[in-house]
Amino acid sequence: MLNRLTISELSQKLARREVSAREVMQACLDQIQRVEGKLHAFISYNGADALAQADVADKALAAGARKPLLGIPVGMKDVLAVKDHPLNCGSKILGSFTSLYDATAVSKLREAGAIIFGRLNMDEFAMGSSTENSGFGPASNPWDTTRIPGGSSGGSAVAVAADECIGTLGTDTGGSIRQPAALCGCVGLKPTYGRVSRYGLVAFASSLDQIGPFSKTVRDSALILNAISGYDPCDSTIIPEPVPDYTAALTGDIKGLKIGIAKEYAVGGLDAAVNSAVQNAVKHLEKLGAEIVEVSLPHTEYAVATYYIVATAEASANLARFDGIRYCARVEGADPIELYCKTRGAGFGAEVKRRIILGTYVLSSGFHDAFYVRAQKVRTLIRQDFLNAFQKVDAIVTPTSPTPAFKIGEKADDPLQMYLSDIFTISANLAGIPGISIPCGFTANPQLPIGLQLIGKPFGEETILKIADAYERTTPWHKEKSPLS
Ligand code: GLN
Repeated sequence: MLNRLTISELSQKLARREVSAREVMQACLDQIQRVEGKLHAFISYNGADALAQADVADKALAAGARKPLLGIPVGMKDVLAVKDHPLNCGSKILGSFTSLYDATAVSKLREAGAIIFGRLNMDEFAMGSSTENSGFGPASNPWDTTRIPGGSSGGSAVAVAADECIGTLGTDTGGSIRQPAALCGCVGLKPTYGRVSRYGLVAFASSLDQIGPFSKTVRDSALILNAISGYDPCDSTIIPEPVPDYTAALTGDIKGLKIGIAKEYAVGGLDAAVNSAVQNAVKHLEKLGAEIVEVSLPHTEYAVATYYIVATAEASANLARFDGIRYCARVEGADPIELYCKTRGAGFGAEVKRRIILGTYVLSSGFHDAFYVRAQKVRTLIRQDFLNAFQKVDAIVTPTSPTPAFKIGEKADDPLQMYLSDIFTISANLAGIPGISIPCGFTANPQLPIGLQLIGKPFGEETILKIADAYERTTPWHKEKSPLS
C-alpha cells in the first residue's frame, strides 16, 4: 500500500531504492481504479504518461540523483496549465483545449523531480465551496460519499484524503485550499500572496488567487512549498523574497509563541462539534507552551461582502477572454455578438454566470464607486486589522469551516448560505496573508473531519508550519484514514 505513505516516507524509500517510482505510481493508479467510481476526484488522468514519468525518475534515481520530490506523484487542480495536458478549469466552455506550456509551479515541481499527474475536479473556474459547480459533475467526500468534499479544490483534497495521490496542488482565492482540506481531513496551505507564481494559473480573481499544496502531513506541505515558491519573471506580482527551507522550521518547539484568538470570530452558526474540537486544540497549543492572547479584527463582519465584490469584479474582467474566438467550444452565431452570447450561454454554468453578472454590476458606471471602490477601501482596513493584531501575536487560530462537510445538494439552491461558509478563510485572501488548515478532530456520528486554521503574518509561513507541525506531532487526527483510503 505505497499510496498510503507520505512524501517524506516515500522519498526515503525511493532514495534507498527499496521501492521504485513506478511502483509508487502504480499503487496510486490501482487505488484510483478501486475508489474513483465513488469519488470522482479526477476530471481526467493519463496513467501511461504518469508511468513514463515514473520510469524517467527511476533512471535518475538509479544514476544517483537525489531531489526532494524525485518520483513523487503530485496531482494538479484542473486550473493549472500542464503542457500538452487538457485544461478545462472544471468548465465545459474550454472544450478540448490543451495547454501550450507548464505553469511555473508545475515546472518548479518538475525541477524538484515530481511526477505531474491528473486533472483534479473543481468548481467551475474555482467558484464555489463544494465542487458541486463542476461542469463534469460533483466529487464526493471519502468520509461519506453522500457529502461534498468542500471546494473549489475538492478533487485535490479528495485525491490526498483517499490516497489516490501522495500530494496535490490546489488554488485558494477565498478558502479553496483550506476549506476542502478541513472537510476531507488533510493538510492544506495557502501561501502569502506573491509567494508562489501565478503564471499558468487560469485567473479567477487575480489579486486574491494563490497556488498551494494539499498533503497528508505538515512536513509534506513544507516540502511542496519549498519546491513551488520563489521568483518568476513571468509573474509581476511575485515578491522576490528568498525561499527558506520550510522544513527547517519544523522543530516541534513552540514555547513562547503567541497565538491570537479573534473575538469577532465567535460567530453564530458554528457547529457544536467544530467549536469543541477547536477549543480543545487551543488548549493543546497552550499545553505545548504557546501563549494564547485575545486579539481584535474589527472589520471581520464586512469580509464576506467585500470578498464577493472584489472577487466577482475581477472574475467578470478575467472571464471576458472566454469568448468563443480564441478558445475551443464555440457556438456559431450570425454575427460576433451572437457568437459570444451563444458560446458563453452554453459554456458557462449557473454560478459562473451569476458571478459575471454580479461583477459587471459592481463595476458598472454609477455603481463602481459605491461598490468596487468602497470594497477596496474596506479591504485595506481588513489588512490593517491583521497587521495590528500581528503586533501582538505570531499567528491567529480559528476554525477553518463553520461546519463539517454538508450533504450534496443541501446548499445548492442557496448561494448566500454557500458564501457564508467561507467566513473564516476569506479574510486571509483579502489581506494577502498565509493560512494553513490541519486536522483537529472529528464529529461523532457520522465521523467527519474537522479542520483548524492557523493564519500568519505576510511571509509568516514558517511560523504557521511550525505550530501546525508541533500540533500534528502530538495529536492523532492526521493518522485516521477515511473509509475509502
Ligand atoms: N468559496 C469561495 C468562492 O466561491 C472561494 C473560492 C476559492 O477560493 N477559489 O469564491
